[in-house]
Amino acid sequence: MEVAGKTIDEWTEAHPVIKEIMAAEEVFWENPDYAQMNEAISNNGLSMADIRDAEARLKRFAPYIAKVFPETEAAGGIIESPLKEIPAMKEWLEQESGTEIPGRLMLKCDNQLPISGSVKARGGIYEVLKHAEDLAISKGLLKETDDYTSLTEPRFRDFFSGYSITVGSTGNLGLSIGIMSAKMGFRVTVHMSADAKEWKKNLLREKGVQVVEHPDDYSKAVEEGRRQSEADPNDHFVDDENSRTLFFGYSVAALRLKDQLEEQGIQVDAEHPLFVYLPCGVGGGPGGIAFGLKQVFGDHAHCFFAEPTHAPCMLLGLVTGKHDEVSVRDFGLDNKTDADGLAVGRPSGFVGREVGKLLAGSFTVRDEELYRLLTKMSELENIRLEPSALAGVPGAVRVARSGFNPTPEAVHIAWATGGGMVPEDVMSADIRKGRESQMR
Ligand SMILES: *Cc1c(COP(=O)(O)O)cnc(C)c1O
Repeated sequence: MEVAGKTIDEWTEAHPVIKEIMAAEEVFWENPDYAQMNEAISNNGLSMADIRDAEARLKRFAPYIAKVFPETEAAGGIIESPLKEIPAMKEWLEQESGTEIPGRLMLKCDNQLPISGSVKARGGIYEVLKHAEDLAISKGLLKETDDYTSLTEPRFRDFFSGYSITVGSTGNLGLSIGIMSAKMGFRVTVHMSADAKEWKKNLLREKGVQVVEHPDDYSKAVEEGRRQSEADPNDHFVDDENSRTLFFGYSVAALRLKDQLEEQGIQVDAEHPLFVYLPCGVGGGPGGIAFGLKQVFGDHAHCFFAEPTHAPCMLLGLVTGKHDEVSVRDFGLDNKTDADGLAVGRPSGFVGREVGKLLAGSFTVRDEELYRLLTKMSELENIRLEPSALAGVPGAVRVARSGFNPTPEAVHIAWATGGGMVPEDVMSADIRKGRESQMR
């Protein structure tokens, strides 16, 4: 049997790391195609201008966001998360691994993003806003120079109620799209994969979102959502596998991070390299952020993706160079992981092709390790994350052991992608799980 033109034996011969990936071992992969920024820039036109455009759109909507989500009022309606140093966690990681981590270790706390408590509040909410703006402007109801708080008026809710939005999701994208769409007045349907946590579905139903449950994995949920959406001209499908809009929404994070680093007096340059570890599912979130970081920091930023050992879809896409032509099942993996946000078997081809050369590398983490880190993050730093959000945390140890040679001036940032909406009982059970695996 062949996979994308080669037998499995031919694949493992060409890329021995595939053997370890197939055995669901933890791997660290340095990207042989990692290129200098000027060589890596694609010629299909994605650029800083797109990031600036998304940033400006979020600013236009900020007064509206501040009004409809009061928790964002203090930040003027800008949806952003803190950047924190995590010294106790760093010390524990060093002791546990017997590896010194040169430089400081920080956490980008997207679990604290307002409205939906995960990284999806960046891309997902942005895509709903852009769609609403496009519709309202095309019908002559809105101009970019208007005060967008007028969007709270009943005439806009009436207008948007004539349109619908559909998305396929493992959970968090559904939450972001669902909450934002429902707030504006859109009808919204979320197609959920079998991995989706029960509490995420319940929360959406409470918000008036139609939830369709699928017995299959994420790719099937997306496919079904896309198919149903195509039949309705007034429906907008948020395409997690291909959306440039989502991608640019995520990329704005890089501009915000640059400001936060400056505010904290942290330099990024040749002597002070930045290492960023991004949990990866289909790739849109980490891909958009990595793209933004490379635009902002160029060769001084090194981005790594982190995936579960049972669902390393982007890694397989990058190693083989076949992107969305291969799935983890083709290589005998089951795509079963408690890191629901990362439970994706086939990567975004768009992201793999656009961001591939910009990535320094990629690594995988076992579920058991995610739980151990979840518990330690709660005990040592009092930060509560969902399993997916821990995947980037071992990155600094992996890089310290690699040929990247981080100096004592390096800054490592693990991107904590979610956890802000996890119910108390689910969180306690997860913390217990990590404690039990600690004792084994
Ligand atoms: C969705 C998600 C990711 C990964 O984003 P992708 O765009 O799917 O790659 C990481 N962490 C959490 C918590 C998520 O919900």
